Amino acid sequence: MSATEASTHLRENPFALAREQLRRVGEAFGVDPDLIGVLSKCKKSVEVSVPVAMDDGRVEVFEGYRVVHNVTRGPAKGGIRYHPGLTHDEVKALAMWMTWKCALMGLPFGGAKGGVVCSPKSLSHSELERLTRRYTTEIINEIGPEKDIPAPDVGTDAQVMAWIFDTYSMNVGHSVLGVVTGKPLAVGGSVGRDGATARGVLYCIRTALQKEGRRFPDTRVAIQGFGTVGRNLARLLAEEGARVVALSDSNGAVINQYGIDVPAAIVHKAEHGTLEALPGTDEASNEELVELECDVLVPAALEQVITADNAPRLKAHMICEAANGPTTPGADEILEDRGILVLPDVLANAGGVVVSYFEWVQGLQEYFWKEYEVNAKLNDIVVRAFEETWSARDRFSTTMRNAAYGIAVQRVAEATTIRGLYP
Ligand code: NAD
Repeated sequence: MSATEASTHLRENPFALAREQLRRVGEAFGVDPDLIGVLSKCKKSVEVSVPVAMDDGRVEVFEGYRVVHNVTRGPAKGGIRYHPGLTHDEVKALAMWMTWKCALMGLPFGGAKGGVVCSPKSLSHSELERLTRRYTTEIINEIGPEKDIPAPDVGTDAQVMAWIFDTYSMNVGHSVLGVVTGKPLAVGGSVGRDGATARGVLYCIRTALQKEGRRFPDTRVAIQGFGTVGRNLARLLAEEGARVVALSDSNGAVINQYGIDVPAAIVHKAEHGTLEALPGTDEASNEELVELECDVLVPAALEQVITADNAPRLKAHMICEAANGPTTPGADEILEDRGILVLPDVLANAGGVVVSYFEWVQGLQEYFWKEYEVNAKLNDIVVRAFEETWSARDRFSTTMRNAAYGIAVQRVAEATTIRGLYP
């Protein structure tokens, strides 16, 4: 994606929005305001400069961050994002959301996030490697299998995780499988990790449809974003017989109300680097995709794509947040009034961190599971969290987002109270 389009994706300060969500949940669920005060701050935030020798002989200096929001329930866990529009407050918001996500899933982790302000597509393979190794070195005292465990996010992948694993391991003098998750299978990755976030989204949509007595066949789904999450989700949905009516990447959207040929779209994107001119589809903008008539809208790209501006025009019956923070609190109120069900990010996209947890456990034990075990355990955890959230929503007559945050915040608050305030 280009720097210009990326630098404009945040209309509001995401950390202010995340804190506002926390304040509302604290009030609604009667959480001690002193605890909310503690939880509305990040525990630790590191800003680093990352000088990189570029292929043309210049030295470019990038900005990097690693933020730990909370470690009360276990080591911090959270992805690393390479994106030209990345901001420090965005990383803080993403770190806070990781705390809630891990607590909602019942994982023994706190929340963290990191990233480098860069445009990974415009870097060569060796520049990307040097950037990753230098960034890892700059944050090496912050990360570790018992401290803070990174994973992939927007703009990073299994190869980047392999470089982080190698850099850390070379520095400590032995291989440390548990330092990072989302690694390639050849170096201690878990089967099922690549498609895990998408699989978690799929399980959430399936469970929500079942609540209405519906099933996948003939369900019309529009997906924004065709990266790790969006592409895998489109593939899984097509396999389940759902009708994928729209797909998009940063260049724009493609639409076919009768259903897009998803395997053909994956091949087209791999060959051309874009979904543009996909045979059998009409072209549209990402804004048009969000407002498309469909049963399920899945934002799977960046934050703040559903706002108070476009929420009144949305025609989806249900929104399933594969991306982190795609809906602003202003939009949430409008969607609630309009009776549109929103499956929130901390529930819907938690499949990635759940299988990251499995990868961490397998790495610590140096004993690896089979794919059906990974998928079955993932299904158990995600569906249990969905049912807990659904019943809290009914009990408190609230939204799925408030219910999910309420459960998560109460779990972290309880752990904080039991541990006590040190010293
Ligand atoms: P990715 O980098 O693999 O893919 C991002 C996709 O979004 C690309 O197709 C890109 O073209 C598209 N995109 C970028 N800007 C866009 C724009 N302005 N409009 C429309 N599309 C745009 O990233 P990913 O790993 O698939 O992550 C996507 C979202 O899912 C992020 O919000 C991320 O935080 C969240 N998420 C990812 C994981 C994971 O395991 N990768 C886990 C949980 C949540």
